[in-house]
Amino acid sequence: MRTIGLEEHFLTHELASHVAPSAAIAKPAVWEDAFRRLLDFTGERLDGMDLAGLDVQVLSLMSPGIHAETDPAAAVTKAAAVNDLLATVIAENPTRFAGFAALPLQNPKAAARELERAVTQLGFCGAMVNAHTQGRYLDDPTLRVVWESAVALDVPLYLHPANGVDVAHVMSGHPELIGPMWSWGTDTASHVLRLIFGGVFDDFPEAKLLLGHMGEGLPYVLWRLDSRWGFHNHHGVELARENPSDYLRHNLYITTSGVCSAPPLLCALLALGPEHILFGTDYPFEDMPTATEFLRTAPISEPDRAKIAHQNAERLLRL
Ligand code: MN
Repeated sequence: MRTIGLEEHFLTHELASHVAPSAAIAKPAVWEDAFRRLLDFTGERLDGMDLAGLDVQVLSLMSPGIHAETDPAAAVTKAAAVNDLLATVIAENPTRFAGFAALPLQNPKAAARELERAVTQLGFCGAMVNAHTQGRYLDDPTLRVVWESAVALDVPLYLHPANGVDVAHVMSGHPELIGPMWSWGTDTASHVLRLIFGGVFDDFPEAKLLLGHMGEGLPYVLWRLDSRWGFHNHHGVELARENPSDYLRHNLYITTSGVCSAPPLLCALLALGPEHILFGTDYPFEDMPTATEFLRTAPISEPDRAKIAHQNAERLLRL
């Protein structure tokens, strides 16, 4: 079965210093292995894809990518350069690779223009956004211009985790909780709720948000979100749709990246429906054969498997 992975990372030597906070989370030997794989496009990566039966990787710059850049002008230059490089890699292997753009969100108007260039000129499928940009989240009013561009181009933004601006007090004294094991998921899920209650999907009802890691826990909590939204003081915030889950069912698409486990997949299928779940591995941080084997053997129907493996990606990303 044709299989397309949506969370497949790479890195360049030029941007290697940006990933230091992410690298510091991993065990040194594990990071060394991941670092080598991140820098490779057509050696180990293609062999691994062949071995795992992964036909296409939609490539994205590893978190936090351009977001770590403090100088907005440098962010604009670096984003364009890495997108150009990725376009070259894809052009050399057009049947195996596609791409999500890196955006210089430090300069929202430049980011919107870069998204348009990446989609219309470089043939990219959307953009990957790594959490906050110097403390600014995607519900920030200055970033509406980026959503406007994404909706006009009909491409998704893929929201990927990164280290937070600060450490939540509840995690103080527990550095083992910081990173992909726990804090990245709660941070990213909270970011999504900011988008809902910050009115992004009311302003752009057709915006498409992609989320990795089986939806960062959100598919599990739809009913409780709705029930407590009915109970809470809204503090002046009102939604155009009746319930928070209406947005998660309509605007949200999730990938299986980094989660090779049937119970959360079955929950996501029931909560969001098979049209909203796509495949991803989180390469090189998860093992490609483990991920493809999980997809092939998951206790789901064959039509749902085909949607997750490739049909949804073909439709959403026009692959
Ligand atoms: Mn990832």
